[in-house]
Order: sequence, then structure tokens, then C-alpha cells
Amino acid sequence: MSAELISLLMPAMKAYGAELIGSFILAATIGLFYQKSTIKDGLKYLTFAFYTIVFKNLLLILLGIAPLHDKGIQITPLCLEWINVMFISWASALFLASALQILRLLFTPVSFTVTCWILMMGIAYFIKTHALFNQIFLLLPQIYISAAFFMVGISLIFIRSIRQARALFAIGFGFIFLGFYYTQALIIPSEQTWFWQALVYSVVLFLSLVSQIRLMDIYCSTLEKNLLTEKAKRELILDSSPFPILISRLLDDSVIYINPPAQKLFGVSSDEIPSFHFSHYFANPVQRIELISKIKKETVIDSFEVEMKNPKTGNTFWYDLSTKAIDMDGELALYTTFKDMTQKKHKEQDLLEKATTDSLTGLFNRRQFEVLSQKELQIAQRHGMPYCVLMLDIDHFKKVNDTYGHDMGDLVLQQLALTLKTTLRESDILARYGGEEFVVFLTHTTPNEGFFAAERIRRSIEDLHIHLNGHEVTVTISIGLSGMLNNALPELIKQADIALYESKRTGRNKATLYTAELQQKIEDESNQLTVETTEKDHL
Ligand code: GH3
Ligand code: MG
Ligand code: MG
Repeated sequence: MSAELISLLMPAMKAYGAELIGSFILAATIGLFYQKSTIKDGLKYLTFAFYTIVFKNLLLILLGIAPLHDKGIQITPLCLEWINVMFISWASALFLASALQILRLLFTPVSFTVTCWILMMGIAYFIKTHALFNQIFLLLPQIYISAAFFMVGISLIFIRSIRQARALFAIGFGFIFLGFYYTQALIIPSEQTWFWQALVYSVVLFLSLVSQIRLMDIYCSTLEKNLLTEKAKRELILDSSPFPILISRLLDDSVIYINPPAQKLFGVSSDEIPSFHFSHYFANPVQRIELISKIKKETVIDSFEVEMKNPKTGNTFWYDLSTKAIDMDGELALYTTFKDMTQKKHKEQDLLEKATTDSLTGLFNRRQFEVLSQKELQIAQRHGMPYCVLMLDIDHFKKVNDTYGHDMGDLVLQQLALTLKTTLRESDILARYGGEEFVVFLTHTTPNEGFFAAERIRRSIEDLHIHLNGHEVTVTISIGLSGMLNNALPELIKQADIALYESKRTGRNKATLYTAELQQKIEDESNQLTVETTEKDHL
């Protein structure tokens, strides 16, 4: 069985093997040019042509060993001849199409190839059916293929693009060589076809590899050159930008580039750039984490207000930052530009201050007091912690104004605010409630402790001596406080106010704690008053 296979395979391989293997390697090798080439289409057709030859030889070999399975299969020499002519015509048409494509003379290779093929097959039929030319029929594939190889060789040598020409010169000669080989085979039929075919194909293969390496070389050097000029161009553009620009690697946060305006802004020289990572320029690390997580989601951030800092001195400043994730020489990087917003930020802070503080004393205003105390109250109530609200009012303040003038009144309010501030703790919320009234929210303070605090405040105000224009003024304050549990803030304020009224009513310069008894007493007194007035009315 295997001896029979060998006896059938050997002659088939001898006749078609070298062409099969050679064409396959050439198809694959030229296929590699394809991606890197500017004559892509031409090379594509060249590759198809070689695959056609591969296929033809494979088919002929298979047909050669077909009798192994079925002795009855008898492939006539005529059938083999036609198969050969058909495939070689098709391959030659593809070769011609590729040659014309390479020379940029042909732009619709499919219809050209099909027309060419039909024409070649027509010629073959004509020759076969006319007794006069019959002898030429067997030589037809050689004629077609050598003509096609000459065409491809010439097209590769005379290719228009200079860079490509330098690389494909060798393979062009390879094709001309192939053309010569098939032409001479026409004239001098050799017994050792397979040997010469193998030799010729290996020479052409060598030349095509030389071309390939040359082409790669040209591509790499051009790429490198392009990259360098691109880099220089890029740096020139970035350097001359009036806006601060910083480019950092996303992977390890290292800074790749800082343009001169950004160097000036951050106070670093070009030598110091590698010493700091992008994170060193952020005043608040949380803002950087926020930025990175945002950029990972959005890839472009148009406006991100952030507090930046000079990494050497630690000086901070507000900047509006725009960031884009870019590909920087094959690495993912952040391209960041900065817009100064210190003034805007100052304005915002000014506005916020105006909206939340009292301009005369610098204390919080009533609205801000309510906002902050509401928060503290909720926390305290949630955790079951004590708290107190104090209402303070200057006694007979009108007199101060009337006697010493409004300026003295203002100074008293300022001095008093300052004293209150220094007497209270950081955590207490102090505000000017209106006119000459102040309010305090004492955190972590029981009503009894609050009462002591109120007394302390009262005494420190009593000891305060205010001087203006040779006059000395002392004032006293009355205080009301409330620390009733589970009450809402307005309720607490109201109760503290009731207690304050009680202090005023019972002599001023004192502190009173709001209690249920006090409430009762006030209600009783007001009832008494109503009774008295009604009695008077009756009289
Ligand atoms: P009492 O002991 O009952 O509180 O008497 P009082 O005079 O302090 O109370 P009253 O409410 O009659 O007077 C408050 C005065 O505070 C009237 C007002 O002119 C003065 N006042 C309010 N705001 C300011 C301010 O911003 N500057 C100055 N100089 N005076 C102010
Ligand atoms: Mg008042
Ligand atoms: Mg008053």
C-alpha cells in the first residue's frame, strides 16, 4: 500500500512539488509585505496569484495519487493539460493585474483579471482546436506565466514610489529571473525539472526576503524619524503655549513634561521636574483621587476646581484644571492645563462670608447660626448629648448710643463680640442675632454647665472697659438660656428668649435658665395681669 503510494506520489511530486512549495513560501512572504506597503492592492493580487499556483499543484498531486483509492479513476492527459492551462491562465491574469496595480495603471483589477482570464482561455481553446497550432497548447502555461513574471518584475523595478522601489528592487529582479527560467524551460525541456524549479524558487525566495528586510528597515527608520520630528514639533507647541501645561504618566503618576508657564506657576525648574510626582502638586490628596477616578470614567474633564500647591514651599492656590487622557508615546498619560481662579475663588469666599457673617462684628449672622446649630442639634440629639442655647442682650444699650454716639455703640458691639469669642470654646456657635442681641449654641453642655458658662460670660463683659475719644464705657448683659431636651431649634431659641426676658425683668445683668416652673410662673403672672386689667375695666 505505502509502496504503491510512493510510486504514485513520487512522479507527481517531481512534476509539481517544487512549484507547490516555492509558490506557497512566496505567497506567504509577499503576504508579509502587504501590511507595511503603500502598494497594498498590487501585493494582494500577487499573493492570490501564487496561492492559485499552490492550489493548482496541490490538485495535480492529488489527482496523481487518486488511483490509489479507486483503480477505476483514469485522469486523461488532456484533462490534466486543461486543468494546468486554466489555473495558470488565472494566476497569470492575477499577476498581470498586480503588475498594473503596482504601476498605478489599473484601479479595477477584478474585472481586468476576469477579462484577461477569459481571453487566455479563449486563446488556449483556439490553439487546441486548430491542428496547425496544436503543438503550442502544451507550452501555453509556460508562455503565460513567463510573460506575467516579466511584467511583475518590471513593475517592481519601475515602481513610482522611491522608498518602495529601493526595497522591492531585489524581488523585481527575482521575478524577471523567474520569467527567464520559465522561458528557457520552454526552449530546453529538462529532465530534472523539479531540481531547477526548486533552485529557482529558492533564489527568488531569498531575494524576496532581502526585499522584505529592506522594506522593514526603511519603515522603521522613517517611523523613528517621524516620531522625533513629531516630538520636537509637539514640544515646540507646548513650550510656546501661554497656558500652564503639565503631562503626567497615569500608571505611576510621574511627571513627563511641564511647560515654562507651568514651571513658573509651580515654582519648579526644568531640572527639578523628575523630583516630583503629579500628586505633589495637589494641596488636598482627596481632590487628586477624585480627579483620577473621574478621568477613568470620562477621559476628558473640562473644568475641575482644585487647590494646587508649590511642591517646594507648600504655598497653595486655586486653579481650574482641564484634563484629558492621552496616548503619549505609547503610554497612557494625563494632559492637564490650568486656568487661574484665585480671584474667582476669593470672590466666592467673599460672597460666602458676606452671606454668612455680620460685617460689624465678624461673627456669624442669624441665618448661619440657624444652619450650623441645626446640624449640631441633630448630632447631639442622635447621640443623646447635652446642649444649651444662650440668648444675650446688652442692658440699656440705647443709652450708650444716646450718650456717647453711634460710633461708641458700634465699638461696644465689636469689643463685646471679641470678648465672647475668646470666652467661648472653638466648638461653640456664636452669632449676632440682631441689633445688640447675641446667641450661642453650646455643644456638650448641660443646662447647669451652661448656666456657669453664662455667668462667666456675664462677668467678663462686666469687667470690659471700652475707650473711645477719651470716654470710657462699661456695659452689662442679660442672659437667658435653655437646654430642654428633644426640642426643635426655634423652640429652644424662644425659651432662651423667655428666660432672657425674665433676666431683664428681674433686674438685668444676670443669667436665667428656662425651666418648666419659670414657664408656669410667667403664665400665672400673665393670667393675674389679665384678671387685674379685666377687673379694672369693670370698675
Ligand atoms: P434693654 O436693657 O431693655 O435691652 O435696653 P436697650 O436699650 O438695650 O434695648 P433697646 O431694644 O431699647 O435698644 C437697642 C438699641 O440697640 C437700639 C439701637 O439703636 C441699638 N443698636 C442696634 N443695632 C446697633 C448697631 O449696629 N450699632 C449701634 N451703635 N447700635 C445699635
Ligand atoms: Mg434688645
Ligand atoms: Mg438691650
